[in-house]
Amino acid sequence: MQVKMKNASFDVLVVGGGIAGGEAALNLANNGLKVLLVEKELSIGGKMILLSKVFPTLDCAACITTPKVSEISRHPGITIFTGSEIVSIAKKAENDFEADVVKNPRYVNIDDCTACQLCEEACPVITSDQYQFNLIGRKAAFIPFSIASPKAAAIDIENCTLCGACEKVCPTKCIDFTQEKEEYRVKVRSVIIATGFKLFDPLAMPRYGYGLHKNVITSMQMERQLAPTRPFNTILRPGDGKMPCKIAYVLCTGSRDVTVGNPVCSQICCMYSIKQAQLLMGALPMADVTIYYINIRSFGKGFEEFYEQAKGMGVNFVKGKIGKISEKDNGDLILRYEDINENKVREAEHDMVVLSVGVLANKDAGSLFPGEKLELDSFNFVQQTDTLASPSRTSISGVFVAGTASGPMDIPDSILSAGAASSETLSYLNTKNE
Ligand SMILES: Cc1cc2nc3c(=O)[nH]c(=O)nc-3n(C[C@H](O)[C@H](O)[C@H](O)COP(=O)(O)OP(=O)(O)OC[C@H]3O[C@@H](n4cnc5c(N)ncnc54)[C@H](O)[C@@H]3O)c2cc1C
Ligand code: SF4
Ligand code: SF4
Repeated sequence: MQVKMKNASFDVLVVGGGIAGGEAALNLANNGLKVLLVEKELSIGGKMILLSKVFPTLDCAACITTPKVSEISRHPGITIFTGSEIVSIAKKAENDFEADVVKNPRYVNIDDCTACQLCEEACPVITSDQYQFNLIGRKAAFIPFSIASPKAAAIDIENCTLCGACEKVCPTKCIDFTQEKEEYRVKVRSVIIATGFKLFDPLAMPRYGYGLHKNVITSMQMERQLAPTRPFNTILRPGDGKMPCKIAYVLCTGSRDVTVGNPVCSQICCMYSIKQAQLLMGALPMADVTIYYINIRSFGKGFEEFYEQAKGMGVNFVKGKIGKISEKDNGDLILRYEDINENKVREAEHDMVVLSVGVLANKDAGSLFPGEKLELDSFNFVQQTDTLASPSRTSISGVFVAGTASGPMDIPDSILSAGAASSETLSYLNTKNE
């Protein structure tokens, strides 16, 4: 449900509309609470809505996410602000918080937009598509992606030339360049932080050549190529559009690596790489896929069997640490690596490399409460003050954490964590009400 208002009150403010924030909002609204869900992107769904399939079941990510997202967006107890930011949250007393929220202009009235895409077709400006992780371009008038919620156009004002072509063709006249930022002061009784994680930026590891060698891509770019809403109809090397036939995965890119300041295991990269390798064997039956790893961490339910399944399908596993990736004239890549079992330095040639980038803290959480001390752990994730007995509790009473905002985890664990955060919120509100 989308509403227009300047001042309002809710039972719970959920910051972040990924799978964890969405699940927490739904649990609370189903218990009769009024929830405000604030998401900074143009759609809810977080990273999950952009994935291909999920480990270890290989279920389609979009098929799981879209019904959930649609339930969240239609729930009468949930108000959603997309494209919005929290300026600050102040705690006045127990059960009494005040949040300043800014809704950025989308320049499209989403209630009237039918997502017909005529504006997109008419727009002459092409820029990089952030929701396809820059693999392709998009227009300045654009629908974020086909399963976005809300499914409505937006104007990328930074790249727009104000030529007016979109306004002229829009059949419902819903494009509105007079829209301005809207500020809200919202009273809430409790807060859930579900701001998720950031991906490690491989530009910080120049020896892997990301950004320099075109056929070195990230795991999220491969995820998009394997998704049903993919940018191309098959898997392509960005350098020359050829179908790759010798693909390498470099695990622990930016994880368990003190040289880039992140000694933490990201927990998901082994499994998502094994998943992608299996999907690639299906998409490109003639291709060789090799995974270079330090250790395979297949610790969850069904994960070890999933790993064995990949080996059985013919995925090569090499216990090796990659030192450097260089490029040949034809765009193929030479990986120089330490063969850990043989204690030797070796070289291998591949025609595409996928960097399995790690999970970093989203530092946004740390600035939400300027007047309070929201404790963070030593890696800048939200500190769980009672990890064992009350894992969603934070250092501020009445403020809870859900999903990867507290540390790396996969989707099932993010959903479990959202369940814990919503039940702790309910119990806080009931106790503090007595
Ligand atoms: C390549 C790749 C493949 C993966 N494959 C799998 C898989 O197969 N199976 C599996 O179980 N897991 C997989 N994962 C992990 C999965 O993506 C995460 O477990 C899940 O997305 C965590 O959900 P979340 O809601 O905690 O965080 P996110 O998905 O990061 O969502 C956080 C949301 O909060 C929003 N936000 C952030 N800051 C603010 C702010 N200040 N104000 C408002 N909103 C904000 C963000 O825009 C985002 O929408 C994969 C991850 C990657 C990178
Ligand atoms: S006004 Fe901006 S968004 Fe609309 S068509 Fe022109 S460049 Fe594209
Ligand atoms: S803004 Fe107008 S033209 Fe663009 S998708 Fe929406 S209804 Fe269609």
